[in-house]
Amino acid sequence: MKHRVSRREFVASTAAGIAATTAHDIAFPIRPPRPLPPPSRWAAKPVAVASANGLRAVQKAFDMLMQGADTLDAVIEGVKIQELDPNDDSVGYGGLPNAEGVVQLDASCMHGPTKRAGAVGALEGIKTPSEVAKLVLKYTNHIFLVGEGAKRFALQYGFKEEDLLTEHSREAWLHWRANLNPDDDYLDVPEAQHMSTRPTGTINCNAVTPQGDISSVTTTSGLAWKIPGRVGDSPIIGAGQYTDNTVGAAGSTGRGESNIMVCGGFLTVESMRRGMKPTDACLETLKRVVQLTVPRLLGPDGKPKFDVKFYAVNKRGEFGAASLYAARYAAHDGTEAKLRDMAYLYDQPAASR
Ligand code: ASP
Repeated sequence: MKHRVSRREFVASTAAGIAATTAHDIAFPIRPPRPLPPPSRWAAKPVAVASANGLRAVQKAFDMLMQGADTLDAVIEGVKIQELDPNDDSVGYGGLPNAEGVVQLDASCMHGPTKRAGAVGALEGIKTPSEVAKLVLKYTNHIFLVGEGAKRFALQYGFKEEDLLTEHSREAWLHWRANLNPDDDYLDVPEAQHMSTRPTGTINCNAVTPQGDISSVTTTSGLAWKIPGRVGDSPIIGAGQYTDNTVGAAGSTGRGESNIMVCGGFLTVESMRRGMKPTDACLETLKRVVQLTVPRLLGPDGKPKFDVKFYAVNKRGEFGAASLYAARYAAHDGTEAKLRDMAYLYDQPAASR
């Protein structure tokens, strides 16, 4: 189905001031940017959709789509903004560490047009795991590299090994450790009691080009204070994200273990394949999450004590997102990048969470 884009929409979306992206600006490009067909021949409405921390990511990805960049190159360059930002403590550099104070990063991606996937798990010392996942996709016969092997692979391609802890993330970990056990030899830090709750976060980004090509990426430092070696949903193809170029893409943030149990990225795409709109497909996956939630994870009101979110785009450039509890997500709909309310399953009674 052709999506006609008005001249006004096209001009708004390619507003002057966007510096042209060349292959040179893209690390390990899947392909160099190439001219777009005229809007009258577009097969889809170009869009980029991400978790709420991805406002800059969707802007960047969308700008690149408008310059004819490859869909995977666009989403990876988008999420790298967050990976490199020391102030985002849920992703890449500055991400909160594991229980031993070591930052271990997870990421995965899929490229619709070439039907390829790449992932890294428990990667240490490299700021941009999404890029390393893209390298696995681009240069190897494998899909998933973990730990020491993933790091050595990245170093071979010229990545630098760096300390990923920032002053903030190191201090947060030290406070968490001090407050963990009132009887241990670390004195409690009462003003940091809030660190005993477990901060989470991740960025997922999915994009559709005017030609209807689709990609997805998810990258994270995972659950803060996790058991060393724990890998969440983000690097698992079919859980953290999934793309089928004939249908759409979906990704997730939130409690990874709950998403792994339902293969949420895959399940959401499969629901779209059966004709569901992106938002309905996300809600359907959330219902499956609830069905598979064990009693210890339910509050006194019977609702999950955690949250998990799904984001989806389809082949036409329709998009949506849904969460267990009210939340927001980022999307560039062809006109502007902004935060939007997600659909959700439950009103959030404060007492139960
Ligand atoms: N999904 C991530 C994980 O489980 C965490 C998050 O998104 O908050 O590793």
